[in-house]
Amino acid sequence: MFQQKSEQRIAECYHCGHRIAMSMAARSVTCPRCYRGLVLDDLIVRDSVSGAKLITCGRVVVERKGRAVTRHINARDGVEIEGEVEAQVSSGGVVHVGSRGCVRGDIAAASLVADTGAVIDGFCRIGNPQA
Ligand SMILES: [Zn+2]
Repeated sequence: MFQQKSEQRIAECYHCGHRIAMSMAARSVTCPRCYRGLVLDDLIVRDSVSGAKLITCGRVVVERKGRAVTRHINARDGVEIEGEVEAQVSSGGVVHVGSRGCVRGDIAAASLVADTGAVIDGFCRIGNPQA
């Protein structure tokens, strides 16, 4: 996540990688390069979700009783995991696995924080996965 002026944010299109400037208040946007829609909101998983990909320019939060079984979680701004995740997780921000969090799947992120008690069953590529 890159911020320039306080009222603007730059989001990176998760389809084509194009960088788009938009107002902080924007909720969704269409990429001017690939014309596909982008979700900007944070996605909160409170119970069981499966099947669909979880993808956003914001953050994905899996709460304590949340369970996400999906192919891919991609949150540009970061991922917060206090529940159970079975997915490939990628983020341009911080992936935080809390003390009750459990991830089965690979993680690629700019940075990773795992609390005592966290379970990560997969390969981690931390640092600059987009390079
Ligand atoms: Zn695009």
